[in-house]
Amino acid sequence: MSKIVSKENKLCMCCMKEHEVKTVRIIDDNIYKGVDIKYPAFYYYCENADEYYNDENQLSENDLSMKNEYRKKVGLLTSKEIISIREKYNISQTDLCILLGWGGKTITRYEGHQVQDMAHDSILRKIRDDAEWFLNLLEKSKDMISEDYYVRYRDNAAMVLENERDTYLKKAIISNYAAYFYKPYYSGNRRLSLETVVDVINYIVNENKEKDIFMSRMLKLLWYIDTLSYKKRGHSITGLIYQARPNGILPILYECLIDLDGISYEEIEIGEGIGYKLISTGFKEYNNLTEDDKKIIDKILSTFKNISNELLLKRIKEESAYKGTNVIEIVSFELSENLSVN
Ligand SMILES: [Zn+2]
Repeated sequence: MSKIVSKENKLCMCCMKEHEVKTVRIIDDNIYKGVDIKYPAFYYYCENADEYYNDENQLSENDLSMKNEYRKKVGLLTSKEIISIREKYNISQTDLCILLGWGGKTITRYEGHQVQDMAHDSILRKIRDDAEWFLNLLEKSKDMISEDYYVRYRDNAAMVLENERDTYLKKAIISNYAAYFYKPYYSGNRRLSLETVVDVINYIVNENKEKDIFMSRMLKLLWYIDTLSYKKRGHSITGLIYQARPNGILPILYECLIDLDGISYEEIEIGEGIGYKLISTGFKEYNNLTEDDKKIIDKILSTFKNISNELLLKRIKEESAYKGTNVIEIVSFELSENLSVN
């Protein structure tokens, strides 16, 4: 199957006469490194000779097209994806080679016809996904890069890192939770969803608008919400894992949750410390919550509506889940049966 892409009157290199030469796109088929590859290729077509032929430029483009289909098929970065890594960090081919300790033309070749090996592919993915690692490598290569460029790369990567802070934060939280993912009594039969955590928090902030709500209270409500959900349905809503602490029951890495993207707060001085007052983001779509989830949240909100923070803490400490768990141990959702809320 060929598709005509363009037509042009010119000297045909096939029959050596001037006539209308068509450029056509064909799906070519080739075996490369033992793998059967189908890829789009471009040819000229001579009607006089009924023949397809290539010029140098097309040959090169078609070869690259085949290599990229091969890369996709075996799960390697394509040449465009490699170029986009350099664009992300705004770094030259040569300087990226210096950072990675590779020969000076390696990146140039990988952006073209030479297919990278698996080991180099993993390194490229790592530097793409980890701006902090980029900065570390840059620091080590400082003396080998011109001062101007060093500063430019550093400032750019610092900005990338800042933009990706939320992604890093989520990764850090998830890696701390990973050990419990397959222990349903700890995870509440739910894989942690930080997007759902953000939705629950914003739902409460919006539904609770008559009163200020601080993060410390929010964290207590989260445990009640997840535990009531488990008690009623056999699974929590957020997948947060909770730990018994001297000051109640709190999610693992609870101190990081406030910094998740989509949560808005003000720092308020309270006595010697700082309180985090949650603010509505104005966004009222909760894509990760079902109607049943909302009913459970509403139930907890109405139960504790007129209960002060002090009394709420007292109530948690009276729950059998708290009494039945040693301090710093994980609170099992198995203990949800006796929750004081129904
Ligand atoms: Zn011709």
